[in-house]
Amino acid sequence: MTRIGQGYDVHRLVAGRRLVLGGVEIPFDRGLEGHSDADVLVHALADALLGAAGLPDLGAHFPPDDERWRGADSIDLLHRVIELLEARQLAVEHCDLTLVAEAPALAPHRDRIRGRLAQVLGIEVDRIGLKATTNEGLGAVGRGEGMAALAVVLLEERNERSERDEP
Ligand code: MG
Repeated sequence: MTRIGQGYDVHRLVAGRRLVLGGVEIPFDRGLEGHSDADVLVHALADALLGAAGLPDLGAHFPPDDERWRGADSIDLLHRVIELLEARQLAVEHCDLTLVAEAPALAPHRDRIRGRLAQVLGIEVDRIGLKATTNEGLGAVGRGEGMAALAVVLLEERNERSERDEP
């Protein structure tokens, strides 16, 4: 049995913050604002994984008003999400991510981000899609005021009991 999940996130860009995308620090004049490291790609991915598992969203698991998660490494939160899936016998099959940002270019960092996510999800790099697009100058993201990310994932149910029960 396969399950699908989708996730979306957006964060403002502000001065004086590191830019972290997919667990990788990227040189840029601004960074994303948020309670954690505001890794918009990882947040969209984590919400897609939680959605596919039928679980509440990232904010419900790691509330932004909880001091424990101040400045949290989002990769750490992703590890915790994977643990929740593993406890439910759910394995990640594929994911596909889109970053919506006017700048900087994602291409030079694409393989490093895919490698990092593959490591955390425990899947091969070629099972991770990562694309970037601009918003063509339209709206807040188009004016460079923030970045958005979209994610879709496929999970496979690894139900050992039903496999044993098969004739
Ligand atoms: Mg977020």
